[in-house]
Amino acid sequence: MNFKDYIRVIEDFPQPGIRFKDITTLLQNGPVYKEAINYLAELVKDQQIDLIAGPEARGFVVGAPLAYALGVGFVPIRKSGKLPGKTIEADYSLEYGKDKLAVHDDAIKPGQRVLIADDLLATGGTIQTCVSLIEQLGGEVIGSAFMIELTYLNGREKLPAGKNIYTMIQY
Ligand code: IMP
Repeated sequence: MNFKDYIRVIEDFPQPGIRFKDITTLLQNGPVYKEAINYLAELVKDQQIDLIAGPEARGFVVGAPLAYALGVGFVPIRKSGKLPGKTIEADYSLEYGKDKLAVHDDAIKPGQRVLIADDLLATGGTIQTCVSLIEQLGGEVIGSAFMIELTYLNGREKLPAGKNIYTMIQY
């Protein structure tokens, strides 16, 4: 399966000069979406994962079905102010913009092995923030999984050494 054939590239979104990789064209194809999740599940299945954590919103679209496929729990990491319970927060910056991410303070138990999942690794800022939130709760980040990696932005270098990075497509 050439997953790249199902990704649409949109020029100048959300800002001039950005070539946005749009996964909605992959998601809307049932068999391809299923194969993509199964592909990622196969890559990570031996990692003794306790939980998948995914940042809103596209991290849910990858992380939740991946958690379901592996039979493990899913922890949503959300923008500040969205989660109903007590949270911890961290600042983050994107390829284009700035925000705060939050997670429920009881979502991860010390020592739990957590895999982060998102649609796309760009500069790595989002993942770095997720790592910091998970580690503040005592979770052990074993790595991260993405449908897409923009290798030219060197996001991998932001992940602490020794963390596995699993990707399906590279640009
Ligand atoms: P990073 O924090 O710079 O690695 O950016 C990754 C985050 O930005 C992910 O949550 C992506 O959903 C989003 N993002 C950045 N560029 C793109 C893109 O080209 N397509 C889809 N999402 C993107």
